[in-house]
Order: sequence, then C-alpha cells, then structure tokens
Amino acid sequence: MTNTSGEYAKQNFPKQSQPEPGLQSKMSPTPDDGAASYVGHDRLKHKKALITGGDSGIGRSVAIAYAHEGADIVLNYLPEEESDAQEVKGIIESLGRKIKLVPGDLKNEAFSQKLIDEAVSFFGDLSILTLVAGKQQAEVDIANLSTQQITDTYATNVFSLIWLVKAALPHMQPGSSIITTNSIQAEQPSSFLVDYAGTKAAIKNMTMSLAKQLANRGIRVNSVAPGPIWTPLQVVGGQLPENIPTFGQSTPIGRAGQPAELAGAYVFLASNESSYVTGESINVTGGLK
Ligand code: NAD
Ligand code: MG
Repeated sequence: MTNTSGEYAKQNFPKQSQPEPGLQSKMSPTPDDGAASYVGHDRLKHKKALITGGDSGIGRSVAIAYAHEGADIVLNYLPEEESDAQEVKGIIESLGRKIKLVPGDLKNEAFSQKLIDEAVSFFGDLSILTLVAGKQQAEVDIANLSTQQITDTYATNVFSLIWLVKAALPHMQPGSSIITTNSIQAEQPSSFLVDYAGTKAAIKNMTMSLAKQLANRGIRVNSVAPGPIWTPLQVVGGQLPENIPTFGQSTPIGRAGQPAELAGAYVFLASNESSYVTGESINVTGGLK
C-alpha cells in the first residue's frame, strides 16, 4: 500500500460493496490499521480505554495504537463484526495488553449503559472514552430518506453519545478524556448525506458544550474530524458506488486516508500531552477544509 518512499500510493480502488456493517477483512485492498507500523512511547501507560466501533476502520487503528501506548482496552462493535473484532483482540493480546470484547447495538439505551457497566467491571474505572462508532448511508433524494434511516443514524451517532457519556461520568476521575468522532461533513456536507452530515455537525457542537460543562471536573472533551478514509463504512452504502474507485482523490493530498493515519490524533487527545486542550476538533482530512 505504500510506495518506495514510504508514502501511501495514489491508486483507484476496485468497485466493491458489502451489506451493513461490513467486514474489514473482506475489503480490497485491506485498510491499513497500523498494526505493523505504529510505534508506542508509553503515552497511555496504566490508562483504561473504552472504544466503540473498534473492530474495523478508524476505531481499530485507534485501539491498536492505544495498546501500543500501554493502555488496556474494552472494545464495542456489532455482533455481525465478531471476526474483525477477534483479529483486533489477537493483535492487542500479542502486545501484552488486556482486552475485553463487548458486542452490542448502541442504538439501544439499555445496552449503552450495560457497555459502560461491563467496562467498569473489567477495569475498575475508566480513563478514556473514545466514541468512534457511526452509521452512514448515502441517499441522493430526500424523497427516499426513510424515517427508519433517520432514526437509526441519529440514534447511533448522536443519542448513544449522550447515553454513553452520562453512564461513564460517575466512573471517570479528573485527568480523564472523552473523544468523539465528527467529520469533514460537519462543515462541508455532501448533497447525498443529509441525515449523516447533520449528526456530525451535532457531534462537533456537543463536544464543545460538554467540554465547557466538564472542564471543572478535570475531564477534557475533544473530537477528531476525519476526511475521506478507506474503511468499511464507505463500501456498505456510505458512499455512492460510482465514487468508490476515485474515493478521496479530490483532496489536496490527492488520495483517501488510511485508518492508521488517524491514530496519532486520537492518541494525542487521550494522553496527558493534551492536558490544556478541550472543546477542540482536529482535522485529519488530507487538506480539505
Ligand atoms: P467502520 O465501518 O470501520 O466503523 C464504524 C463502526 O461503527 C463499525 O465497525 C461498527 O462497529 C460501528 N457501529 C455502527 N453502528 C453501530 C451500532 N448501532 N452499534 C454499535 N456499533 C455500531 O468505518 P469508519 O469509517 O472507521 O467509521 C468510524 C467513524 O469515523 C464513524 O463515526 C464515521 O462517521 C467517522 N468518519 C469516517 C470517515 C471515513 O471517510 N471513513 C470520514 C469521516 C468520519
Ligand atoms: Mg466494523
């Protein structure tokens, strides 16, 4: 995937599609999760991180990087993604870190609370809450945007954020960090992502208000805004099928990003290196503004 100078190649992707939520292992080429390249420096030693959407794509590269940095991990994903999650478990255990897998649907408030309970019973408390899970389905015509899709997209991307933060806060000590995932779509919405782009704007905004609310408890709240990244989300209907081959090529850098290229931003926001940063969103967009 990288050329001789170590840069990621600029290449067309083969046309492909999978049913939601999709498996990273079935993508061609397989996204780069950083397992072979990430170098840790103990920046998250003794930290305990719950990561949603951690089986694949961006969340998977974050989980692997956090483990390289010394954190133990609780990973959430959908039951259909068990095989991707088992791969992540193997990688993290090979690094000598502890990991607990908790599959389940974040659209369900009771499950979101149970996920926090499971993480707290595994760890004792929680120092990093990294919310990466998300739903994105392209729909070119608002006449066809179903109430089911609107409800599912908002429940997954927005409601679960509130449910998880509410449930987690009693277990988070000063010095803890909450990280959300918004998108270039929060500022530059595509015509065919009306519902999804709205959720990402909401997440960016909620990150800022939560940051103000929680600062005096010593808890920082920040976000990462990815641009076009090569992940399952894009090939399960998140992107229009005709856009897949040249996906990401309209960015100034001229290619899609790889999940591994997001990990550094999530590590920075989780670590004490960002102790004076809150209410911020870091763009990792290939230069898109
Ligand atoms: P991905 O498909 O690898 O990850 C999304 C994950 O969300 C899935 O693995 C799944 O485990 C989880 N998920 C979806 N619905 C769920 C539910 N109801 N309950 C529990 N988990 C659920 O794709 P990705 O691109 O790595 O997505 C990660 C995040 O990055 C998302 O929030 C997405 O909106 C955001 N993002 C992605 C891009 C991109 O170009 N790939 C760009 C901007 C933002
Ligand atoms: Mg997945």
